[in-house]
Amino acid sequence: MKLSTGIVRRVDELGRIVIPIEMRNSLGIAQKDPVEISMEGTSIVVRKYENRCVFCGVLRPSIKYNDKLICKKCLAELNKQAEDSKN
Ligand SMILES: [Zn+2]
Repeated sequence: MKLSTGIVRRVDELGRIVIPIEMRNSLGIAQKDPVEISMEGTSIVVRKYENRCVFCGVLRPSIKYNDKLICKKCLAELNKQAEDSKN
């Protein structure tokens, strides 16, 4: 959802901007919470960082391997491919 607020902020000398409190509150972003910064075309997107499966992006996967998170579904797919490659 793209919502234009008309809010203009200036970037400070260290490259920082303040995310409006209303936006932080509505997205549940609190002090010290990690956020993920990415580029989409000519826009900079800041989103609340949440643990996701490295393969499919599903939220809060349950399996951790070498510091990467994987969901059960992707793990099952990998196991199946490993089994198939033996034949
Ligand atoms: Zn997955």
